[in-house]
Amino acid sequence: MAIYDHSKYVSLTMEFRCNLKCVHCMIEGTMDRLVPESDESFHELLAHNSRTRQWTGLILTGSEITLRRDLPDLARQARAAGFNHVRIQTHGMHLGRRAYSESLVEAGVDEFFVSVAGSDALSHDKITTVKGSFDKTLRGLEILDEYPDVATITNTVVTEASYRLLPAVVERLAHLKRLTQMEFWLYWPMTETDEKRLAANHLDVLPYLKEAAAMARSLGRSVEIKNFPECLLGDDSSLLVNDQPQLFIDPAFWDEFARNGFYQCPYKDECKSTQCLGLNTAYIKRHGDHSDHLVPMNKSLTKDIALRETMV
Ligand code: SF4
Repeated sequence: MAIYDHSKYVSLTMEFRCNLKCVHCMIEGTMDRLVPESDESFHELLAHNSRTRQWTGLILTGSEITLRRDLPDLARQARAAGFNHVRIQTHGMHLGRRAYSESLVEAGVDEFFVSVAGSDALSHDKITTVKGSFDKTLRGLEILDEYPDVATITNTVVTEASYRLLPAVVERLAHLKRLTQMEFWLYWPMTETDEKRLAANHLDVLPYLKEAAAMARSLGRSVEIKNFPECLLGDDSSLLVNDQPQLFIDPAFWDEFARNGFYQCPYKDECKSTQCLGLNTAYIKRHGDHSDHLVPMNKSLTKDIALRETMV
């Protein structure tokens, strides 16, 4: 069951530099052109939320938000303006410095959404292309684990390079007490073709994804899966959560995003899923439309699953 209500959070992209070069980066071609939200927009959003209390949580994001030196100040201002939660989305490397993590927690950052690309230094660093990045990120998660009022969330992008590692990722992070939610985002390339051949076949991914989800849940974590056909997940279909907080980002981002061509599915017209994004153009070009494996969701199936969940 989801523990974070995305409708209560708002995301602001405040930084478009990054000091990793992940092979799966979805904005690598646009990072240089995208413009971060201005300080003026930030203050306007704080003032708006002070008046309306529309959101309870603010997410500070971008390519790598910890590259902003004034990040603690931003968090402090957001808390002073009434946000109950301030979350940062980060590759987590800088959190490995205790003094830095401490400065963020003291400033009011209480939720850390951290990217974990692989299950160990070898696999993670190969994906981020920066040696030593796994050790720093894990160290950061372990430091944050010492703060009782902090929650961490991890995200692992699922690609050809990572899908077999998913259960091992869960296992490697099993010792973390404050890890509340693990997310698994299936890669999409932001273009019409999968030039890097990173989009793994959903049918190959499925057993690893289900095993990782089951392991994470047995550790008491909430799990969210993004961009995977809901019908393929079977009794894990409730883990598909494609909802996202309202996002403030340079409008140019959406031009690139539209190139993905989501919502393609041979059963689109009959399927009753309200979460599924179907397949995208690049995926279908590589792996086909899976018309022999996809099964349109119907109301009674959705109801059956909801009923089963209330019984456990
Ligand atoms: S039939 Fe298509 S739209 Fe429906 S859940 Fe499956 S992939 Fe998604």
